[in-house]
Parts: sequence; C-alpha cells; structure tokens
Amino acid sequence: MNILVINCGSSSLKFQLIDSASEEVLAKGLCERIGIDGRLVYQSEGNEKEITKEHMPTHTEAVKLVLEALVNPKTGAISSLDEIGAVGHRIVHGGEAFTESTLITDEVIAAVERVSELAPLHNPANLIGIEACQKLMPGVPMAAVFDTAFHQTMPAEAYMYGIPYKYYSQFKVRKYGFHGTSHSYVSKHAADMLGQPYESLKTIVCHLGNGASVCAVKNGKSVDTSMGLTPLEGLVMGTRSGDIDPSVIEYIAEKENFEMEHIMDVLNKKSGVYGISGVSSDFRDIEAAAEAGDERAALAQDVFCYRVVKYIGAYAAAMNGVDAICFTAGLGENSGETRKKICDYLGYLGVELDEEANKRRGEDLVISTESSKVKVLMVPTNEELAIARETAALVQK
Ligand code: ADP
Repeated sequence: MNILVINCGSSSLKFQLIDSASEEVLAKGLCERIGIDGRLVYQSEGNEKEITKEHMPTHTEAVKLVLEALVNPKTGAISSLDEIGAVGHRIVHGGEAFTESTLITDEVIAAVERVSELAPLHNPANLIGIEACQKLMPGVPMAAVFDTAFHQTMPAEAYMYGIPYKYYSQFKVRKYGFHGTSHSYVSKHAADMLGQPYESLKTIVCHLGNGASVCAVKNGKSVDTSMGLTPLEGLVMGTRSGDIDPSVIEYIAEKENFEMEHIMDVLNKKSGVYGISGVSSDFRDIEAAAEAGDERAALAQDVFCYRVVKYIGAYAAAMNGVDAICFTAGLGENSGETRKKICDYLGYLGVELDEEANKRRGEDLVISTESSKVKVLMVPTNEELAIARETAALVQK
C-alpha cells in the first residue's frame, strides 16, 4: 500500500510517498513559504529534483500541488490518486490523550484541538494539514502519529515537575517529551542491529539535530526524556537554551525590559549554540569556526556535548545501567567529532569508541570496540518511514 506521509508546519509541508510493502520512497518533497511566495521542491524516484515557484496561499493549495505532482504523467510516482492507500500525519503534541498512533476521526481531531494550547506553534498547523487532505482526498483513511505518544510510558516520578500539584491536575503541566517517533524507531532498530530482544535492553538514544533530545528506553518503553512540556527543555540546541534556572527569565526581563513573549523568543530562537557562539545554529559552521580558532564556537561545542553527557549519566542512573547508546539525527549521524567528544567522557561506563568506525557517517553501524562494555551505535533516524509503518499497520488492522 502506498502511504503519503505529511509533516505540516505553519508555513511548510514536507511529504513522502512510501510503498509500505517494499518501504521504498517513491517521491518526496516540500512546500515552502506557504502564504508568502510558495515554492515546491519535488523529487520522484529516478528523477532529478525539481524546484518551482507556485501560488499557494494556503495549505489546501499546497496539498493540491503535491497531489498534482504525484500524478504528473512525466515525473509523477503514481498514475492515479487511487493508488494512495492512506495518509499518515505527523502530529507534534498528543498531550495525555494519545498513548499511541490512531486513525483520524472527528473525535481525534477535537482531542488534538484541545491540546493545541500546549503546542500553539505546531498543532494548529498539523490540523490544517489534516483538513486540507480530507478536503482533497475524501474517504482515504488517515492516521495521526504523535511525537509525544512514545513517552506516555514515563513513570510519574519522571514526568512530574516540582511545582504545586494543581498545575498538573488542572492544567496538565508536566513533562511530555518529543521526537518520540525517532526515539522509538532508533531504539528498536538498535536492538535489531545488536541481535538482542528489544524488551530486555536498556538504551539511551541521543537525537542530536537542530532540535535535540535524549531518551532513556528500558525494555522497549520510554522511561524518561530530556524535552518537557514543550521542546524547550533539556539539551542546549541549535537556537534553544534547554535547561536553565527559571530565575534567569525574570532577571533578563528586568535588565532588558522585555515582555514575556520577547524573552521566550530569545530562549527559543536566539539561544543554544547559536547564542553562545554568535556564529550560527548550524553545527557545520560551528565546527569550522572552532577549527579556525574561534573560542566561542569551541565553547558552544563543549557546552553542547557536556549537557548530552550529563543526561546520559542521569539516564544510566535512572535505568540502573545501560546496554547501548545510540546517536541519530543530523549531528548524531554525521559529526564524528561530536560523538567522540561525548564518548570521551564515558570511560566510567566502560565505553570504548572504535575511532575508525566513528569516522564513517550516515549509516547503521556499531561504532564501539568489541570489548566496549556499553555498545555505541550510529543509527540514521527515519521518522517518515516510522510514520508510514504505523499508518499501514492501523489501516490494515
Ligand atoms: P532538524 O530536523 O531538527 O532540523 P537535523 O536532524 O536535520 O535537524 O539536523 C540538523 C543539524 O545537523 C544541523 O545543525 C547541521 O549542522 C547538523 N549536521 C548535518 N550534517 C552535518 C555534518 N556533516 N557535520 C556536522 N553537523 C552536521
């Protein structure tokens, strides 16, 4: 069955058409600058990437353009829209309502709307994507796959904040965690790579991209993760601060005479390695600058790695041990330098990095030595494939 995977942002829409039987990507692309001056990037199997300027005032036109591209007689991947068996939508926040992926019904849409307050930038955009697809593909089954669902197995001691209980009971303020699709996919895949049962393995997954999080997976279940109520908590990221003393907010607000909205913008968009280095949020630029002697770029790298190391230590403690540490996402898959800097701290766990293997990138590979007590793996994540698998499983049920 062909599954159309949709990941809808406020002004963008990423898509992949995946044959769920062969797991081949038949076509993929992106609509950008929706509502501004629309751009469609499209590539089908065996063809060159095409980039065209298109009129797309709303997400509905964007979905329409994607569907037209998919059935284009020259470069289309399918000959008719009937060949799309189902659509899988990435939904950022499922709150406590969703512990797993689900087929989309009116009730599901209403429940996603109810948790939109917790993810005001993401959920409304995700819902617009669903609505656009329903309008243009009536009758095609659709599934919602949540970033938060995998983490709903966290025990209360991991997800509760140390604030008055009423904020949890009345307003559902708690840790939710994100990147769940990736953490689940990578931890499962790592167990397969090691030839060990997923249900009896203690794994720490480091999803290190522009957004970054660490997850403790014990016996196939997420038991803790570094992101919180929102994706701002945890690691130092491309532009997000990660953990800080909450008093910093009041202090800076007073010093700079900032409103709350402004200070949240600083923490989300002007902080992280970008804020520390002043160079870039992109690790390639930071590595190059550090290499060329830029001290703040080197400091940003050190702060980033140190925070990851602290979370690994915390999660090894939380699980009373760790069998495997996985690196994934843009930086985790590609930056041997970052992996080495992190692993250099982990001698106490018995981690021994295979320096030759660590030079490789973007492939499924065990990068620790034979004698390493804890296995270290590089596992390219594939959130689209994970969404396609979940969607196919729900539809075929
Ligand atoms: P997101 O999905 O959160 O936007 P990605 O998983 O695509 O993030 O990761 C983006 C990050 O990965 C960027 O900071 C980028 O610099 C980094 N990255 C990608 N390739 C490399 C590389 N070869 N070396 C170092 N960093 C890289």
